[in-house]
Amino acid sequence: MTPVSRVSFVGAGPGDAELVTLKALRRLREADVIVHDRLVPVELLGEARADAELVDAGKAPGRHCLGQAEINWLLVDRARRRGRVVRLKGGDPAVFGRLAEEIDAVRAAGIPFEIVPGVTAATAAAARAGISLTERGQASMLVLASATDHTGRASGSVDWGLLARAEGTLAFYMGVRALETVTASLTTLGRDPREPAILVERVGHPEERIIAARLGEIAAAARAAAAESPAILITGPTVAAASAPLSVRRVPAGAAAPADPVVVEA
Ligand code: SAH
Repeated sequence: MTPVSRVSFVGAGPGDAELVTLKALRRLREADVIVHDRLVPVELLGEARADAELVDAGKAPGRHCLGQAEINWLLVDRARRRGRVVRLKGGDPAVFGRLAEEIDAVRAAGIPFEIVPGVTAATAAAARAGISLTERGQASMLVLASATDHTGRASGSVDWGLLARAEGTLAFYMGVRALETVTASLTTLGRDPREPAILVERVGHPEERIIAARLGEIAAAARAAAAESPAILITGPTVAAASAPLSVRRVPAGAAAPADPVVVEA
């Protein structure tokens, strides 16, 4: 019997397996094949059927990363041969997930697809920090921006002047390596260096940390704390509620946000 072919692009959330949707869980449990990113929660893969094929797109059998063309081919090939394919991506698949390229390949092959949204890093980080991303009279706009381009340098396709003037909240993905350039671009072009900012590292993981500082100082604070990717930078007036300036907090895993964070460095 020919299997029913379908590709589900599923959001795995930021790292805490409990943040996944019921629909995502259902798709994982019925999948014939799961093609997943490197950083998705292992508990979610544990939901796969015993006979499901699991493919780590971040690490192929030969230990090299699968290229985008290989992933596209795999989705089409497995959907045709095996049936129900789940493409599991960190956070929300539609936010900096190279989703369009994979949809194009699946669509071109005439295979039906669906998108199951997930909790994106920006909203998960705000939840852990105990802040609102928008607020009447304070922030009527939320910008999700990629801080860097594929070369790892501050993104050339971002209008930094516009973001510097934007009255609202800015959330920068993929920004750790370019934090100095990103914050300097914003403040040089007119954003207030005293604006509160947080860098939330490894949201939803046991090693989660929240580094809070003024925008003009957060790059130095992150360097001092040896912050690493993945981390998300959030800046804007509503961030003030997060914590005192220049503190590094480690939030106990499993604690209800924003449960008494432990200050590990000041
Ligand atoms: N689709 C993902 C984003 C992928 S781009 C989402 O919706 O969240 C990768 C970037 O996302 C990282 O560089 C980082 O900025 C952010 N990110 C992903 N997971 C994260 C996590 N657990 N903690 C903090 N930032 C994270």
